[in-house]
Amino acid sequence: MKKFTIESINNIENNPTDRQERISWWSQERLKNAKVMVVGAGAIGNETLKNLALIGIGNILIVDFDTISTSNLSRTVLFRKEDVGKKKAEVAAKRIKKMAFHDDIQVSWFHGDLVWELGTGIYEEMDLVLGCLDNVEARISINRQCWLSKTPWIDSGMYELGMRVEFYNPPNGPCYQCNLTPKQLENANKRYSCDQAKLKAFAEEKMPTTQITSAIVSGIQVQEAVKFLCSQKVEVGKKIYFQGKNNDFDIFSKQEDPHCTAHAEYPNVIPIPVNANHTLHEFLQLITKKEYSGKGASLDFRGDRTFVKTVSCRICFSEIRLMRPTFRISAEEFICSSCRLEGKFFSDTNSSVETVKVTQDIFNLENTDEELLHFTLNQIGIPFQHIVAVIDKEDNYAYYKLNNKETIFNKI
Ligand SMILES: [Zn+2]
Ligand SMILES: [Zn+2]
Repeated sequence: MKKFTIESINNIENNPTDRQERISWWSQERLKNAKVMVVGAGAIGNETLKNLALIGIGNILIVDFDTISTSNLSRTVLFRKEDVGKKKAEVAAKRIKKMAFHDDIQVSWFHGDLVWELGTGIYEEMDLVLGCLDNVEARISINRQCWLSKTPWIDSGMYELGMRVEFYNPPNGPCYQCNLTPKQLENANKRYSCDQAKLKAFAEEKMPTTQITSAIVSGIQVQEAVKFLCSQKVEVGKKIYFQGKNNDFDIFSKQEDPHCTAHAEYPNVIPIPVNANHTLHEFLQLITKKEYSGKGASLDFRGDRTFVKTVSCRICFSEIRLMRPTFRISAEEFICSSCRLEGKFFSDTNSSVETVKVTQDIFNLENTDEELLHFTLNQIGIPFQHIVAVIDKEDNYAYYKLNNKETIFNKI
């Protein structure tokens, strides 16, 4: 029989994950190899990132478009007073890199709009996506992308001392959108005017809550994540609910809506050696080759995003050149600068006067201006590693993934 030696005691004490690895089903190896994207680095995101780093998740991508404000400081374990004004994703990435017990943890961050700037192919690479958000619109977008890429995701939410965690595992079971009311769907579009242009003045609702609640909700979210990554049973399509005010804990089943529009999936996706820094011309030249979609094939934006070439001022009817995807245009830009200088805005005009907008949503070598052909895919609004639809001359669709992985992420 092997004798217990001093050396083995040292080994135990030198292994930072010794205590968790004593759980019978635990697999530190799997957690180390896991790729997890955390969307939102606010109150819940801070707790979730701290938990992931301490538990030893090996590859973490942090996505957030916001900067740190003073009101964040009482709820964010990773942020300090001197961080006010800095990018949430970047600061969170630096702090968890320092906090992690192993040096080879891979932490990347992206400061940008997850709804429009995060390609479907990025979701596809993840083992799990953790939603740490405060708005329905962003959740709808994550949900749709996760369904398209068949990536599991765990949503979280809180209000005062109440919280919920929901696990979705596409293509099985209900999705986040299945249980939304028409009112919630309608509210989700408030950040945008009727045509996706950003309304700068729109103020996010400020949630009454505390750091304590974010710690609890994140604890449950990451615990579900760990169970899933170690192949343990998780509650798919159910709502784990805790109301801290009266300590009411419950699990609710969610119904699957057979008509839910979010359950889309690509029939098959063809990787192509292109990234979003290639020009539209280079892209079209490739996909019109006979081994892809053939002569006359077009990039088809319909249903995904729109590109605006020009718009006519509603007041003086002069033409305003925009040449940008709608999501990079703010609603004010639809008023020309000369009218704005004279103090004339939409509200001054007769609402029956429609803005005449020239958009383009089908791009091919025949119909696209020379100038636009030299735009990069990213300039026309396609994110890196996105999956794009191409329609050929016989109206057959093919779906191509921009597989040349020029990364847009910042590594720590
Ligand atoms: Zn659904
Ligand atoms: Zn004008």
